[in-house]
Amino acid sequence: MSPRADGPRPGRVVITEEQLRTRIAEMGKEIGRDYAGQNPILVGVLQGAFLFMADLIRAIPIDLTTDFIGLSSYGSGTNSSGQVRLVSDLSMSVENRDVLIVEDIVDTGLTLAYLKRNLQARHPRSVRVCVLADKVERRQIEVSVDYVGFTVPNVYVVGYGFDYGGVFRNVPYVAVLEGV
Ligand code: 5GP
Repeated sequence: MSPRADGPRPGRVVITEEQLRTRIAEMGKEIGRDYAGQNPILVGVLQGAFLFMADLIRAIPIDLTTDFIGLSSYGSGTNSSGQVRLVSDLSMSVENRDVLIVEDIVDTGLTLAYLKRNLQARHPRSVRVCVLADKVERRQIEVSVDYVGFTVPNVYVVGYGFDYGGVFRNVPYVAVLEGV
């Protein structure tokens, strides 16, 4: 799907590039302190979290390992299908390892709840969660999140990894999708 020039576009900015830089630097320091000496595996959730993951790991001043998992819960629009699917699996075992899930946003919570359950079944030493954005208002299922970058209102956002129909991930800030 290609966005039409007169179709939905990134509008009002909700998280600026400067805010992203500052907050991610803080989160990286905090994670570095919490995991000192542990070589955690950071599991990025594709595709949305790949930009956040790339910036976050460079802000974490300790040895760490990265891997990715592909999940899909949204169709191509702005409404969750409510169904989570594993699209591509990790490349390594997480048994006895400290796992930190790196996700773009927690909305209903269904994706994270599924992922935590899935990873727990592989017997890691610990599983924690780091999200760039939390849409608290929309939660349908209780899921604990250990590191939160920003709380965002109940609007559909695009940019900095967030897409609409596969587009706008490369916009360097987070904005509200306007014109839907
Ligand atoms: P949940 O399972 O918590 O409802 O949804 C999590 C997933 O929904 C996220 O990983 C993300 O892919 C997608 N999502 C939720 N809210 C938004 C949003 O505002 N914009 C975009 N682009 N994706 C969202």
